[in-house]
Order: sequence, then structure tokens, then C-alpha cells
Amino acid sequence: MDDHEHDEEADATPEEGGHIETRAIHAGQEPDPETGALMTPIFANSTYEQDAPGEHRGYEYSRTGNPTRTDLEENLAALEGAEFGRCFSSGMGAINTVLNLLESGDHVVTGDDVYGGTHRIFTQVYEKYDIEFDFVDTTDLDAVREATRPETELVWVETPTNPLMRVNDIGALAEIAHEDDALCVVDNTFATPALQRPLEHGADAVCHSLTKYLGGHSDVVGGALVTDSEELDEEFGFYQNSVGATPSPFDCFLVLRGTKTLPVRMDRHCENARELARWLDDHDAVDTVHYPGLASHPQHDLAAEQMDDFGGMLSFELDGTLSQASTVVESTEVFALAESLGGVESLIEQPAAMTHAAIPREERVAAGLADGLIRVSVGIEHLDDLKADLDAAFAAAL
Ligand SMILES: *Cc1c(COP(=O)(O)O)cnc(C)c1O
Repeated sequence: MDDHEHDEEADATPEEGGHIETRAIHAGQEPDPETGALMTPIFANSTYEQDAPGEHRGYEYSRTGNPTRTDLEENLAALEGAEFGRCFSSGMGAINTVLNLLESGDHVVTGDDVYGGTHRIFTQVYEKYDIEFDFVDTTDLDAVREATRPETELVWVETPTNPLMRVNDIGALAEIAHEDDALCVVDNTFATPALQRPLEHGADAVCHSLTKYLGGHSDVVGGALVTDSEELDEEFGFYQNSVGATPSPFDCFLVLRGTKTLPVRMDRHCENARELARWLDDHDAVDTVHYPGLASHPQHDLAAEQMDDFGGMLSFELDGTLSQASTVVESTEVFALAESLGGVESLIEQPAAMTHAAIPREERVAAGLADGLIRVSVGIEHLDDLKADLDAAFAAAL
């Protein structure tokens, strides 16, 4: 099977609040009771009037709580089919909040290909507090089992991973984490809840960079944590307020604009990426394509089971040198040469020279990141224009 359609039967039983397309638009989105304003207003307040000392109407200070943020938090929780959501000023702010739960002496197991910023906060911020991190190939469940020990408090999972789009088994990893009473937290930024809901597979919490697909328009930076556990949510809320990496009401408003169209955008991102992956796979200029939707992908079956579709991210290896790959990414006109991902516009980048340049070449190549590797965030432009753009860039470089 190299194609994957929505499971119509599963879709036939809507979650509370309707199907995801409906929840994306309506969850947390009541018209303003005072004015009837259909869209959540931007509550640009730092403080709120109290009826008597300590008697407030739900809000006292905007770091602690803000109505625009509340609506976004409810919306995001509903998208993941979760009870609780918390928003942060960036994905890193959300990740930091999970790490705030740890204590000196604790141990964390995570993937050897986690997001660079995640690797950095683990090793350069939290190791100095005597928290230990083991980076293993999380597609190898035995390696994960071997790495966990009684002090393991957290198994941090990304799937699909960056930039080789490896797919990790959330259910199996959550089970391994729980055997050691560790939490399993999944960074669901690449898949989004439109394609994958980690809580359904046993994860304890889900983390997001809202900067990517959830915002969807490359115009805002934000993060979120969602969970079904009231206890975890209270801890997240404590650190959210105590540390203060909270988003502005305007940023929350922008993300709320984005989430409304998440399911439709993801449909087109997936369709374009699937077609582009097939086309690249047949292209003479290309050696290998990394996309979970291709039957040749090592975890294709797992992806088909765990995800509703295969996502909008892919990478491919050019049959050429580092400098030829550089020429390709400099030559495209529709694809913008940029880091980040998940916006409506297509982006292209060269991991060896950009996102993963900090890794020494030998290590990089050993990890499967060839010099000619190119990563694309496939946007929602017309597919033919994307193909023509890449074709012209290949012709310029090779
Ligand atoms: C971008 C990203 C982050 C960090 O999010 P920011 O919003 O940039 O702080 C974390 N995880 C993944 C997978 C990402 O792509």
C-alpha cells in the first residue's frame, strides 16, 4: 500500500464537539457574550477589575490567564481530543515546561534525531542541573528499552522526525516509558492533530510548536502542551505562570485564525507532498526520497497505521555534491530558501549547510544526512508549479 485514505468508518463516529473539521472552527469559539462578536476578540489586557478583593470573574492578570489565550487553549485541546491545553510563547517554551517537571538525578530517553533546539535545551540547559539524556534510535525499541532505567522519568518522542522522516511507534514507546513509571511526551509538530493524535496511542502529553502547521502562515511563533491528565495540566499551568513564557493575546488570535483551516490545509499539504514524493522518486536527478507515504519508506506500514495521512514534509538526496545541492536550493523561485516549515508557502533548505550544519560532517554523514540532502516543506501552491520550479533548479545545478 503506498496510498492511504481516511478511514471513513472511524470518521463516522464524531468526537465530542463533532469531527475535527468542525472542532477546528468551533471549539473554544463562543461569540462574545457582551457584543455577539463572532470571533474571539484580542483581549489586550494585563489586568482585570475585581468585584471585591480576590473576587474576580475568572481573570486577574494576563500572565496567569487571558481570554484570547483560553479560547486557543480550548481549541487546541479539542483538536487533540484532549481535556486540557496550555499555550506558550514558543515551542521551546512548551518543551521547557515539560523539563521543569524534572529533578536533579532524573534521566531522559529520547531520539538521536530530535529537533536541534530540543537537543540544545536538553544538553546545554538541563544537563548542568544534573539531568541525564540518552539519545538513541527510537525506531529500535530494544535500544529504547535498554536505555531506560529506574531513574528514567521522561521518554521524549518525535514522529515523523527531521529531516529523514523516520516514524516512531508512539504506542510501543509509551508502553516502555510506563514500565519505568516515566512520562511519554510526543512532539506532534510535524504531523499535527489533523493526522496523528498521540494521546490515543497512550502518550501522556503532546507538545507543539504552533509556529509551524497550527499557525500555518509563517507569521507567528508559539507553543502548546495538551494532556488528559488534570494533575499534569496543573503542573504545566504552575510552570506556565511561574516561568512566564506565555504568548501575547495577538499571537493567540493569529494561531486561532490558523487552526480553523488546519484540516483543509493539511489535506492539500499531504496531497502535494505525496505527488511530489512520487515524482522525485522517478526523477533522474534524485537518488533517494524520504517520505513516509512511499512504500519504500522503512516505517511505511507503521505510518499508515498511526497516521491518517503522511504529512507535508519530505527530504531527498540529490545525485550530486554539497555545492550542487546548494545551487538547487538557491535556484528555486516558488520554494523559498528558508528554515522552519508548515506554512502555506513551500520552503526548501539544505540540512548539511543550514539546520544541521552544527553537527560535524563525519557524524552527520554517519547519521544518514548526506551532503546532497535537501528538505522541503511542501506548501499548498499548485503542484505543477512546484514540479516546474524544482525541474528548473535541477537543470541549473546539474
Ligand atoms: C520548530 C520546532 C520546535 C520549536 O518550536 P519554536 O516554536 O520554534 O520554539 C520544536 N519541535 C519541532 C519538531 C519543531 O519543528
